[in-house]
Amino acid sequence: MSISVTAIDIGGTWTRVRSGDARARFPSEPDYGRQLRTLIAAVPAGTSAIGVSFGGRVTPAGEVRVALNLRGYEGRPLAADLSGALGVPVRVAHDATCGLLGECAAGALRGFERCGYLTLSTGVGAALRLGAVHLTTEAGHQLIAGNERPCDCGQIGCLQTLTGGSALHRRLGRPLQDVDDERFWRSYASSLALGVANFALNAGLEAVALGGAIALRRPALWPPLRESLAELLTYQRVTVLPAALGEEAPLAGAALLPTLSEAAILH
Ligand SMILES: [Zn+2]
Repeated sequence: MSISVTAIDIGGTWTRVRSGDARARFPSEPDYGRQLRTLIAAVPAGTSAIGVSFGGRVTPAGEVRVALNLRGYEGRPLAADLSGALGVPVRVAHDATCGLLGECAAGALRGFERCGYLTLSTGVGAALRLGAVHLTTEAGHQLIAGNERPCDCGQIGCLQTLTGGSALHRRLGRPLQDVDDERFWRSYASSLALGVANFALNAGLEAVALGGAIALRRPALWPPLRESLAELLTYQRVTVLPAALGEEAPLAGAALLPTLSEAAILH
């Protein structure tokens, strides 16, 4: 009998649920207990396994370790709570890792053995694939020389302070989707290029896919980004591509989680 997987994507702002053709979307509830009750009600009968893409770091057992956008979830056993209430196995992974899994299986990263995925939305998430292993990284919190902006994580100078939606919204006083200033986006692209170049060089990546609302809804970002990368990288070129599955990438990856071995993912 084939398994019927329900995929869940819990982001800092929205939660989405997909089961076959059935879909639901609701705002992510900062209160963990309320979110859990809403999720349990949203999973359809007939589900035999659940894969969850989560916007934060989790343990292999699916407990939330760090969630800068959903602090009330930290220390909570998300997989065990869902599994206990619904009586089915539940696997949880970081949303960037799920985006990577989706893009490797059916998107822009098909065929690449050494590749990465960066999500540019509220924050900046990162994951990479080296052969059969997929791992979450902290490339969004890599330190950029000369950057003195404090980050939500407590460090000074993180890439996320230059490229994350929340940090820039606070700094500019308006959401990034309302910013059309070409100079701003050139400077954004050059900061992002530094982050992508370091991310790729550190792990010897051949390709990096960029997902998340900022990468996917701002086509004007791509030409200056590719220009800056071409200036930075001399001997080790990296192919940079928009996530082909778009905002569906984390859900597509979450749906694969129940079918993967534990060893395929380093949390
Ligand atoms: Zn940081």
